[in-house]
Amino acid sequence: MLKIPYLDFTRLNKPYEAEMLMAYQHVFKNSWFILGKELALFEKEYADFNKIPYCVGVGNGLDALILSLKALGIGLNDEVIVPSNTYIASWLAVSYVGAIPIPVEPNPITNNIDPNKIEEKITSKTKAIMPVHLYGRICKMNEIMAIANKYELTIIEDNAQAQGAILNGKLAGTFGQINASSFYPGKNLGALGDAGAVTTDDIDLFEKVKLLRNYGSSVKYHNEIKGVNSRLDEMQAAFLRIKLRDLHQSNQERIRLAQVYRSFLENNEELTIPEILTNGEHVYHIFQIKTKQRDALKTYLDNLGIGTLIHYPIPPHLQPAYAELNYKKGDYPIAEEIANTTLSLPLFPGLLESEIEFICQSINNYFKF
Ligand SMILES: *Cc1c(COP(=O)(O)O)cnc(C)c1O
Repeated sequence: MLKIPYLDFTRLNKPYEAEMLMAYQHVFKNSWFILGKELALFEKEYADFNKIPYCVGVGNGLDALILSLKALGIGLNDEVIVPSNTYIASWLAVSYVGAIPIPVEPNPITNNIDPNKIEEKITSKTKAIMPVHLYGRICKMNEIMAIANKYELTIIEDNAQAQGAILNGKLAGTFGQINASSFYPGKNLGALGDAGAVTTDDIDLFEKVKLLRNYGSSVKYHNEIKGVNSRLDEMQAAFLRIKLRDLHQSNQERIRLAQVYRSFLENNEELTIPEILTNGEHVYHIFQIKTKQRDALKTYLDNLGIGTLIHYPIPPHLQPAYAELNYKKGDYPIAEEIANTTLSLPLFPGLLESEIEFICQSINNYFKF
């Protein structure tokens, strides 16, 4: 039986193997593992890629969000507007600094935060808006920034899923005062372990995050503030530098594969497929379809050896972790509808067109199209 994994890391990373082995030997030989040259170079190269002045490498995407919020001074009882439809990390970061996540429903077509629903949630305690560019699709940043300007709110982008995504020529992760990214292995720019980064054009925020990630210290054993340990290590930085050089190309391959999906699925009326973004580039971290028959279709595809995932089966407001906020089923119906109907199909550089054809034929057969 043909087996198509949801994500095949062997295929994904194979093109970089020889260079990565050399990078490993280089770091091994230098024997400098934390806060060294590879990180400094990666930070410069990631900032250059994004056309933004500053980047700070940190331990992971959640820390990138937490340290961004801390650098802004957001804390106890402040309110931060977050999407109701997101990975729970976006909410957790807000909670970890003592602030309260205030959910706003997504637009059901983009799946991203609906700018028209933000203003009604703004109170005197609101400090910031955290747009999340879910599935590789950039949020409606012009509308969101206009609201932020009107109410003097800060924007922190959660750019874990959209490295390289573009809106009107500007990259995701460069709109906010400070922005967080994750290089978790499955992300568009993925390390061989945990890693993350903060990007900003504000030198004070840059300096603050640099202190925070390293025990509040810039000179060894001199601690200016109470920081944490969240550093992007030299080995991961060296691996990321290699993959960063290919990020534009690998995003283009994702876009091409998404087009192949589109050509096979666009006539299937039982499905919703991603709407084409006309004023920028959706980088397809995930190729999402939506159908009322999601669970049965997933089982059917499982039985054919086709791997799929659900992003995400339970929205944050219904997770036991957020029981304290007393939300109940029905409070955020659009996020709940997405959770009940969404299905992510395999999409990664290295996936074959013939495999996409088989996946799509299987889906169309299921619906008798
Ligand atoms: C992956 C992800 C994160 C967290 O990144 P980690 O590196 O796993 O900590 C945050 N937000 C979103 C939307 C993500 O997809």
